[in-house]
Amino acid sequence: MKNHPQNRQEIAEVQSAAENWTPQRALTWAFETFGSRVAISSAFGAEGMVLIDMASRVRKDFRLFTIDTEFLFPETYNLMDRIEEKYGIAIEKVYSVLSPEEQEGAHGSALWTRDPDLCCSLRKVEPLRRKLGELSAWITSIRRDQTSVRSSARRVEWDAKFGLVKINPMVDWTSKQVWRYIHDHDVPYNTLHDQDYPSIGCTHCTRAVRPGEDPRAGRWPGFAKTECGLHIIEPVAGSSAVVASKAAKFGD
Ligand code: SF4
Repeated sequence: MKNHPQNRQEIAEVQSAAENWTPQRALTWAFETFGSRVAISSAFGAEGMVLIDMASRVRKDFRLFTIDTEFLFPETYNLMDRIEEKYGIAIEKVYSVLSPEEQEGAHGSALWTRDPDLCCSLRKVEPLRRKLGELSAWITSIRRDQTSVRSSARRVEWDAKFGLVKINPMVDWTSKQVWRYIHDHDVPYNTLHDQDYPSIGCTHCTRAVRPGEDPRAGRWPGFAKTECGLHIIEPVAGSSAVVASKAAKFGD
């Protein structure tokens, strides 16, 4: 493991060059630079599966974690089993400190129907913050064309919200490229994608999309919410590069 960048200034030195890197080059840099202090974060969407497959070709023992809200689809849990078997890794599963029953006791039933931001905060953001506290860098599969919040993401950036380096190897990929890679490399994927679920989260907050709808229209239907809070960029004091939009949220 090399001496690794530990702040926004040091990351700026590699950020421009990284824009021209392939996803595989970004993964290689991440693993060489941060060793066991970097991990892939995934909810196992199509682009996440491509990233996992690419990572397995760069380093066999890469770290992979997921935030298990305990409200995921059976198809998603089945995919996790297939990933562990195919790639020979153990997915690190991170949970809320509150079980679903404890959450209901503290906040009432079906919190996601009344305050999905609080529910996502309890079941996704807090567990992620805890997990990232163990790491120096995290790797995600976000793409710029997924949502407006993600449109300014860089391939390598300083994550001011969580205080570590964030690597987005597939930031400039399109959905078409993702699916071509999946088919060309026989990558496993969530079978819900074949049932009009382009974006998959918790059972309570995900529905199939209708023809012509935005691919993320099935997330938090009935709410303006589009992000669960994991990838929102928060303002940095003294910086004009503030992208955050707490009103426009989304997630994995
Ligand atoms: S996606 Fe829905 S059920 Fe899942 S944590 Fe967020 S609000 Fe709760």
